[in-house]
Amino acid sequence: MVQMAELDWMTYQSRVNTKGCLIFLPVGALEQHGPHMSMNPDVLIPQAIADAVTDRLDNAMVAPPIAYGYKSQQQSGGGNHMPGTTSLDGHTLSCTIRDIIRELVRHGVRRIVLMNGHYENSMFIVEGVDLAIRDSHHNGVEDLNIMILSYWDFVGDDTIKRLYPEGFTGWDLEHGGVMETSLMMHLYPDLVDISKIIDHEPAEFPPYDMFPVDPSLTPASGTLSSAKNATPEKGEILMKVCVTGITDAVRKKFSSIPIISDPAR
Ligand code: ZN
Ligand code: MN
Repeated sequence: MVQMAELDWMTYQSRVNTKGCLIFLPVGALEQHGPHMSMNPDVLIPQAIADAVTDRLDNAMVAPPIAYGYKSQQQSGGGNHMPGTTSLDGHTLSCTIRDIIRELVRHGVRRIVLMNGHYENSMFIVEGVDLAIRDSHHNGVEDLNIMILSYWDFVGDDTIKRLYPEGFTGWDLEHGGVMETSLMMHLYPDLVDISKIIDHEPAEFPPYDMFPVDPSLTPASGTLSSAKNATPEKGEILMKVCVTGITDAVRKKFSSIPIISDPAR
């Protein structure tokens, strides 16, 4: 895969000037994921997927990921009161995304995929992209196209049935659970210690949030469902499903968008 940051600027520029050049920007978080895992799966997983997708495309690069994300929410990430979890204000995240896109556009990039790995980031990514598109229109750039995706949305019902024979609790409660742990066991086994997995029932929350949060609603482990059934084989399946699905979507969607700019602009 081609890492943008590892290129010299002239090689980068000539790649950007090649027809249809596309850049992936992984957006993650620094967030506790239970006692059995490092705090960076939300950035490592989308980065690994972006790397693998890039390998399957003709002229794509991966930009350095955003390693911090929006505040962990209790019902989807254990909560922002947890030690280690280090978050940005939503406005900061949106503005960071807007700034990075503005710079890529200045270089001549017109095709960008934002690869989200942290549930709580979603709408702040949308906001950053919306502002960037608005800026680009004000600057006379009319051919900027940006795809936003969260990788787990490419895991279909068939795969869910196969990986969760005991029942699926939903993506929000997957925090530090079977999906993320399996992917990390497959991709970065050194960052997982399965002997420290705490087996517990899925977290139960009322259908509302109270602020300040009541920390006692978060399971003591920090995870929202048990990772007991995680395996590297499941991680490999998840990786394959996400990489294939995302590659197909990116190829299909962007090939239907005409390239109207002169690449030598
Ligand atoms: Zn996570
Ligand atoms: Mn997260």
